[in-house]
Amino acid sequence: SGHVRFEAVHFGYDPDREILKGVDLDIPAGATVAVVGPSGAGKSTLARLMYRFYDVTGGRITIDGQDIRDVTQSSLRGSIGIVPQDTVLFNDTIGYNIAYGREGTTPDEIAVAARGAAIAGFIQSLPNGFETRVGERGLKLSGGEKQRVAIARTLVKNPPILILDEATSALDSRTEADIQATLEAIEHGRTTIVIAHRLSTVVHADRIIVLEAGRVAEQGTHAQLLRKN
Ligand code: ADP
Ligand code: ADP
Repeated sequence: SGHVRFEAVHFGYDPDREILKGVDLDIPAGATVAVVGPSGAGKSTLARLMYRFYDVTGGRITIDGQDIRDVTQSSLRGSIGIVPQDTVLFNDTIGYNIAYGREGTTPDEIAVAARGAAIAGFIQSLPNGFETRVGERGLKLSGGEKQRVAIARTLVKNPPILILDEATSALDSRTEADIQATLEAIEHGRTTIVIAHRLSTVVHADRIIVLEAGRVAEQGTHAQLLRKN
């Protein structure tokens, strides 16, 4: 499961200004698809529509053939994990930041769950190890560590569909490469939509979609796009 389709999707935040102008996407279950394109093209907007922060104004988005407007919010948000561009951590522990929103789950329980889950590798890869640092306060972390915690917060629900909205683009290139490597392992087996600024960070994607001014300008593999441009 996790087959995502956009069918002639239109959207505008304001009625007199359309941002997405008829977007068609077909993302097979388990594939990693990257969305690149200039700033303002509508990439983050695509992600927000999938998570239903907003509803499409025309067309539809389906998951496994079902219109996402026909799915309850809790079911939709159980199957999709989104790492937004600008995650803000609470001034609380790493454990709390990861457990946040998951009622009845203490940082200790999360630590135990994390150990068993597929995300263990990711959390363990916090410098000096997650388990010794679970009680550390989020605001003291470096940018890269904060972003690992933000990603872990999303991964802890083990979503079959993962959206990464420029999840590493604010980091220095070495930290970005470190986190990127862990992410690529985690993307395996789940439908992943990676929004990226630079083509070089999405070489591993099965397909790259170039969005320009609210339309799909072209798509193909990394090699195909390099040949054309
Ligand atoms: P990208 O992710 O490709 O940089 P966005 O999806 O963030 O593009 O933005 C697409 C367009 O929508 C931009 O012109 C942006 O200014 C506008 N926009 C984004 N968010 C909002 C919002 N909450 N309200 C109104 N306009 C918005
Ligand atoms: P959870 O996955 O714990 O249920 P939410 O669904 O509330 O969390 O939000 C997921 C992420 O999306 C959070 O990191 C939140 O900051 C971010 N977010 C919430 N509302 C918006 C919005 N309108 N636009 C973009 N990002 C948002």
